Amino acid sequence: MLTIESIPAFNDNYIWLIHKDANHCVVVDPGDATPVLTYLQTHDMTLDAILITHHHADHIGGISELKRQFPRCHVIGPAQDPIPGLTQAVDEGDHIDIFGESFEVWHIPGHTQGHIGYIGDNKLFCGDTLFSAGCGRLLGGTAEQLFTSLQRLAQLPDETAVYCAHEYTSSNIAFALAAEPDNIALQTYRDEVNQLRAKGLGTIPTQIGTEKAVNPFLRCDQEEVRKSVTEHIHIEENLEIFTQLRRWKDNF
Ligand SMILES: [Zn+2]
Repeated sequence: MLTIESIPAFNDNYIWLIHKDANHCVVVDPGDATPVLTYLQTHDMTLDAILITHHHADHIGGISELKRQFPRCHVIGPAQDPIPGLTQAVDEGDHIDIFGESFEVWHIPGHTQGHIGYIGDNKLFCGDTLFSAGCGRLLGGTAEQLFTSLQRLAQLPDETAVYCAHEYTSSNIAFALAAEPDNIALQTYRDEVNQLRAKGLGTIPTQIGTEKAVNPFLRCDQEEVRKSVTEHIHIEENLEIFTQLRRWKDNF
């Protein structure tokens, strides 16, 4: 079993640190080197490898400085996203070894074209693809790709721990409740998350089973989600009709 620690970065990013013994570790998506170096110094740790999920600056910004401090450190990341400083490009179906645990690489496009996830030891490192009660924006990939990627992640065992890269849970829940107000599991989850946040605690990792119960982006087959989306489309259509009606009368 690997141990995972969270290193907060920027406003709401998580840099995940993976270790087994006391001295060696791997970090995931180090957008900023400073908090990682502080953690490594405090805990007297050596950085063996960096895992990257996708090319956005808040995930890769720390690579060059970490590499400068730990020149033998491997930098593993997606073959299909542009990542400066990679030492090993990986893609769908590749396996990497992290302290004796095998992790499989999945290509999970949508947030970006090349986005990958790392799955092993009952853990998923999914970057900005799946968040708790939400999912990443389309910043390079298509809705169809993201839908397919999320459907695929939902097939993982329920107890899989989901290590996403942002603490967005509270605001995601506010939206999820608009889409699915009568979801009792979601209401319960909101209360749990509110308690954690009130104590200044994080909500990540979440689990696949939890996300299947609360995350509207994994629940598009649910009647209430479908109804909310349809009603929202009607509001937008009515607004558009009103706008055109007003414009028509302007020139009548
Ligand atoms: Zn991103």
